[in-house]
Amino acid sequence: MQFRDLKTQYTVLKDEMDKAILDVVASSAYVMGPKIKEMETAFAEYVGVKHCVACNSGTDALLLALKAWDVKFGDAVFVPSFTFFASAEVIAMQGATPVFVDVDKDTYNMDVADLEHKIEQTLKNGKLTPRVIIAVDLFGLPADFRAIRKLAEKYGLYVLEDGAQGFGGRIGDRKACTFGDISTTSFFPAKPVGCYGDGGAVFTDNDDWAALIESYHIHGKGSDRYDNVRIGMNSRLDSIQAAILIVKLKAFREFELVDVNKVAARYTQKLMDAVKTPIVPDDFYSSWAQYTIQVENKEVRAGLQETLKALDIPTAIYYPIPMHRQTAFKDLDLDDNHCPVSDQLADTVISLPIHPYLSENDQNVICDAIKDFLKK
Ligand SMILES: *Cc1c(COP(=O)(O)O)cnc(C)c1O
Repeated sequence: MQFRDLKTQYTVLKDEMDKAILDVVASSAYVMGPKIKEMETAFAEYVGVKHCVACNSGTDALLLALKAWDVKFGDAVFVPSFTFFASAEVIAMQGATPVFVDVDKDTYNMDVADLEHKIEQTLKNGKLTPRVIIAVDLFGLPADFRAIRKLAEKYGLYVLEDGAQGFGGRIGDRKACTFGDISTTSFFPAKPVGCYGDGGAVFTDNDDWAALIESYHIHGKGSDRYDNVRIGMNSRLDSIQAAILIVKLKAFREFELVDVNKVAARYTQKLMDAVKTPIVPDDFYSSWAQYTIQVENKEVRAGLQETLKALDIPTAIYYPIPMHRQTAFKDLDLDDNHCPVSDQLADTVISLPIHPYLSENDQNVICDAIKDFLKK
């Protein structure tokens, strides 16, 4: 069994995919060129924003957003402790200070009460200037952007949506990757829409920021490639990946997003009496980058993971170490009770195989194995 079955996906899309890839190979336009524009237009249109700038990874996309806002030493950037390292890493890469916010135990997303508490604390301390809230759409579920935007307005902060896992999610009719002043996503193969290598994108309605990001992602280019007006990076998406993403987006729109939601609904229906299943609030829609359950404690989890592994059922722990306990951030010298829910989740979560091609039969095998184990 596969955790995320990219092989089956390729088999289903093969004819269209092979042609798209070979067309780029034959065109010899490998870097930039018309495929990039076509892909950027398709993705901007899908989410419903004015600008999409494709880049080399979800990490670079976040970094480009912080560069556009000139986030720097002395600035505080609020970020959930329970996330993938990149969400926090980019803050430190800019020389700014991450302030870790705890998450909600039901949605796994930023806890808005703790966000306000951490903003107030930062202001009271007086050492850092609060600038940005990075809210992550963890496991495919959009963060509580209605509440987050209210706080952002109250304190004069920018909102950066880390939609690396959230592409395809919604709140009401509004799609993920439109909730930030700038929003980003990742096209790493295992994300909701992935390419065949690294890739990412930045989304915004703001013309000035889009122009800055366009410049930063190609060596700070000015009027042309050899007129460099700022220090930037080399963070382009390959044309071959853009062609792959156009095919992937079509499948995602036509059936994959709907199918993965059916898979998630089946899990919840079969498992809700045995374990804590993920909660999707009213009016929210997830793209299910992960299906993550919670069990009683670390020992039960280890036993469950081992039992499933013996039955050839792959699982993963996202994430075993919260950001406030990462060695790379040890100099921040945070107190032991900084993000208690993140600590608890790190010990109790386990993610199950999920993808649009998971069969009902395989799902029954997984659910029966979980229930059998927990009965003992
Ligand atoms: C994957 C991921 C990233 C980074 O994306 P890459 O394309 O791997 O650089 C950032 N934030 C979150 C929440 C992610 O899951």
